[in-house]
Parts: sequence; structure tokens; C-alpha cells
Amino acid sequence: MRQSQVLPNQPEDYTVPRCLHGEASAPAGRKEIVPGKKTAKSSVSTPQPAWADRLRYFSEHNGGMVETIRELVEIESPSDNKPAVDRIAAFLAPKFEALGGRTHLHRSNDFGDSLQIDFAAPTREASNRRPVLLLGHYDTVYPLGTLASMPCKIENGRLCGPGVLDMKSGIALMLHAIAALQAWHGQLPRPVTVFLVSDEEVGSHSSRKITEVLAKGSAGVLVLEPAAGLRGAVKTARKGVGEYMLRVKGVAAHAGLDPGKGHSAILELARQIAVVSKLNHLQQGISVNPGIVQGGTRTNVVAAEASVGIDARIKSAKQASGLDRKLRSLKPFDKHCKLEMTGGINRLPMERTPGVAALYKKAQEIALQMGWTLEEAAVGGGSDGNFTAGMGIPTLDGMGGVGEGAHAVHEFVVISELPRRALLLAGMIEKV
Ligand SMILES: [Zn+2]
Repeated sequence: MRQSQVLPNQPEDYTVPRCLHGEASAPAGRKEIVPGKKTAKSSVSTPQPAWADRLRYFSEHNGGMVETIRELVEIESPSDNKPAVDRIAAFLAPKFEALGGRTHLHRSNDFGDSLQIDFAAPTREASNRRPVLLLGHYDTVYPLGTLASMPCKIENGRLCGPGVLDMKSGIALMLHAIAALQAWHGQLPRPVTVFLVSDEEVGSHSSRKITEVLAKGSAGVLVLEPAAGLRGAVKTARKGVGEYMLRVKGVAAHAGLDPGKGHSAILELARQIAVVSKLNHLQQGISVNPGIVQGGTRTNVVAAEASVGIDARIKSAKQASGLDRKLRSLKPFDKHCKLEMTGGINRLPMERTPGVAALYKKAQEIALQMGWTLEEAAVGGGSDGNFTAGMGIPTLDGMGGVGEGAHAVHEFVVISELPRRALLLAGMIEKV
């Protein structure tokens, strides 16, 4: 999701994962032993042999997955640096081609190029199945040079580095899941389209239309954004995201000689911020954050201009128009000041539609084969999954790595979780 700068130690805006089974299950991969209490049969079962073999396959390839992630992390790719983002596209294209994918670069002048890879169905039988779309992004929020202070390294079973969780590990999972399916079946069981976006962290303006076209023709969309929290929940609902800018024009004056003649844009802005903040309705899932304030030129000048950038979040699509209308109908307190509101809701919420719930159910069934109860979560951050779910295409998000600290200095993925994530993805490619 979008965030304009790296915030140290900033927790992700995940809500607490929802557990469908009434009680919280053990953390991923660890069986919780409660003395005197029987473990619920549904939450931990013995892995079936075939799945156990597949899981072993990924465990044996875990070193390779870590290596792929490291390669990707070490190619820095901030959204606002086109040459850098294009570099990672150029690195990834041959990796997918080596697996038999047909690559196509979607050129953009303003952002990096986005990369589409198509894996055709190898047999007529398989080609009757609609493709599954694997969606991800290779841009990050970290400026060039971040690696110097935040090197890619392994520490206590965690792989750390800028973008390692959000979402270079997700791209590595795609590569390895596709390779594994080819190894197991001799070929892919169905057509697969991969779309790697260049500008997700800054609103997906150059890629959104392509994402929507590709989603339209697919049976389902799997978004390789990070899982929710260390329990590895997949994301079945996301808030909608909007971004607004309120500009105030006042009347400048000398603060000493003519204080009465000025009409301060800063004072007006301060009063407007108080009004905007009242639009928060956390219980309804509406939040409004005036996040960036600018204005004025000198202390001895009554400010002629001031502005505030506002982040807005909504839980359901129905809330979009009401919030938008309220933000656009602000009236100046000082009649000599003018207000101008620009921006809007960029991503509508990803709602938990029956199609989303059905994908989650399939994912749960696959996880159970591994003896793992896969949870789901509703989160505050938006992703490109909001676009595809908003079109009514079944979408499951949070299929990527498990870790913490997306967009923050302590970003990491848990290495031991990678095999299960890869197998979950491979299983979903087969079953969607
Ligand atoms: Zn992301």
C-alpha cells in the first residue's frame, strides 16, 4: 500500500486476524500445547503423504528461494525512480522466460515499466481452463541507497532488507511455485498470467487499467502481497483508500505593519483541519488523516497559501460518495480565504464477497492438507487487489511472505515460512 516515506518502527496497519474457528489457533508452524487441553482436531492434522512430499520439495528448495529474494532485494527499486524500477523488470523477465513464460513490457513514461508474463496452457485440456492471475509489484517505498543502512541479511531465521516482505518475497514465491508445478506435472496444469506492477506504492496510475483487463479474463486473482501478521493470515478484506489535497488561498500582509489587512491561509487551514478530523468514524471503519501540512513563507508575513494532504480510508464502497461529498463541501471560515479540494478515492474497498470467501475456503483446504489452519484477516491498507475485487473477480490477497515491518527499517520475512507459502500458492494455481 501507499506510504509516502519510510517510517521507522511503524507497525503495519493490520487489524487483528479474524479466526473463523472461535478460538485463536497456534502460530503458524508451531503446535501450541496447552496442558490438560486437547488440541482441536481441525486445527492440526497429519499432513497427507503427497502434500508432505511437496512440502519437502519446497523445504529442500528453501535456500534457493532465499537466494532469489536476496537478488531481488539487492536491486533497489523505489517507485519514483524509473531507471531503477526498469532495472528490476529487466532482471526478472529472463527469469520467467527461463520457465517458459512469454514476457511483455508495458512501457510507461512517468513510472517504471510493468511486466506481464503469460504461461500458455500446454495441453488442449488445460487450455479450457481460464488463467489464474498472479498479481504483484516490484516497486518499493525505499529511496536508492537504503541498502547501505538496511542491508539484506539473515538474522535469527529472518531475511531482512528493504522491500523483502512488501513484496519481493512474493515475486520469488511466484517463480518457485511455477517451477515446482512444472517439475511435478511436467508442465503447468492451466494457463497462468503473472503481472508485476511498477507503481503500486504510489497509486498504480500507470498499471491499473492493465491489471483490470488481465483480471477480467481470469478465473481468480492471487495477490502476493505480504500475509497479515506473523500467523500468516490471508487477506479477504481491505479498506478503500483515498488521497486528497486541500489548498487554502488567503491574503498576504506584513505581520508587523499591516496585521489587520491579512487573511491567514494557515489559520484558515488549521480550522479546516479540525473540521476534517471530525469526519473520522472509526467504528464505521472510516478514517481521515491530515498527514502533511505546508504553508507560509516567513514568520513576519501573514500566510497567503497553505495546504494539507489527507489520507482517507473507508470500509465499504457505499461510504465513498458520502465522505467525498463532505470533503468537497468544506466552507471557509474567513470569507477572504478560498478553498480548493483535489484528489479522491483511488481504491475502493476489497469487500469479502462470496467469490473472495470461496477462494479463501480453497486456500484453507490446501493449508489443512499441510496440517495448518489458515486464518483470514481484514486490513486497513489497500493494494491492487482492491481493483480486481471491486470488479467482482474472486481475489485472495496476502498470499505472499510472512513477516513484519513493511515500509519500516525492521522489515523482514520469516525464512521457515517460505515453503508453506510456496506450496499454498502452487496448490491455489491448480485449484482456483
Ligand atoms: Zn505491497
